[in-house]
Amino acid sequence: MIVILKENHTPQQFDSLCGWLKAQKLDIQVNRGYRQTVLGLLGDTTQLDADLLRALEIVEDVKRVSEPYKKANRKFHPANTVITVGDAEIGGGEPVLIAGPCSVESREQILAIARLVKDAGAKLLRGGAFKPRTSPYDFQGMRAEGIELLLEAKKDTGLPIVTEIMDISQLPLFADVDVIQVGARNMQNFELLKELGRGDKPILLKRGLSSTVKELLMSAEYIMAGGNSKVILCERGIRTFETATRNTLDISVVPVLHELSHLPVIVDPSHATGVYRYVKPLAVAAIAAGADGLIIEVHNDPEHALCDGPQSLKPGAFAEVAELVRKITPFAVR
Ligand code: PEP
Ligand code: MN
Repeated sequence: MIVILKENHTPQQFDSLCGWLKAQKLDIQVNRGYRQTVLGLLGDTTQLDADLLRALEIVEDVKRVSEPYKKANRKFHPANTVITVGDAEIGGGEPVLIAGPCSVESREQILAIARLVKDAGAKLLRGGAFKPRTSPYDFQGMRAEGIELLLEAKKDTGLPIVTEIMDISQLPLFADVDVIQVGARNMQNFELLKELGRGDKPILLKRGLSSTVKELLMSAEYIMAGGNSKVILCERGIRTFETATRNTLDISVVPVLHELSHLPVIVDPSHATGVYRYVKPLAVAAIAAGADGLIIEVHNDPEHALCDGPQSLKPGAFAEVAELVRKITPFAVR
């Protein structure tokens, strides 16, 4: 339930209302906007008389919320959430570019790519250390050593790093990681989401291969319910009947998620398509639709990449995408 307060209420009226609501065993999420204060009531509100609340001097309006996600819901929190990482403000209006290889492969590889993507305008460096591969015989990532190398690249370039966690047991290795990625395959690993919710690091939450928007938002809710409100939603293509591309990029979720949630929404055109030639047009489409950023795979030698070479951009092509993003940003629909 949402309670919108009148603009000119007194602190006494506010305290008295909150005291009464707490006595009803409800948690109160207070959102103070520029002019209006909105209370989100969490807990069992079925017994609460909305008309009684509405009649109070301090109350402007009361709305029941039917969606099961509360903390991720824009109705509870009308203003956009902005997540600051290094120089980047994700959700702050300027699209943020995250770029780097699918996997960290060596010191030379990650340092070279980090410098190149930084020069092209990336604000964060991506790179997998723990890789969820379909085949157990494929390269599984450099694991702890991969994280060490990412940290070295961070020190060298100043770029904050984004890397994927696959299991709670790996969490101690992520102490200096700036943004923890939960990959598509782990979107509903609820124990992992709960653990990440107890921390305060930004979480890049990728949409599951066959997950609905509601399921994605419920996974965000798992993290937020634990107290961590820094969740970045990521559309990375979903599985459909179409086989011409690796997945089908669901561009429509950009405006849909922005309407339903206050969390930033970014798009991954690399995993969405699986083909480097399609990354640029879909990156442009995502920005035009209002995405808060892009996460793009970039490799300096894609032909020999240990993972996802066919969808990786060479640094020059990434620089072209970055330039195009800057040009179309003023025309993006928000
Ligand atoms: C990745 O970003 O490296 C990755 C594995 O992506 P996804 O979880 O979207 O497949
Ligand atoms: Mn990849």
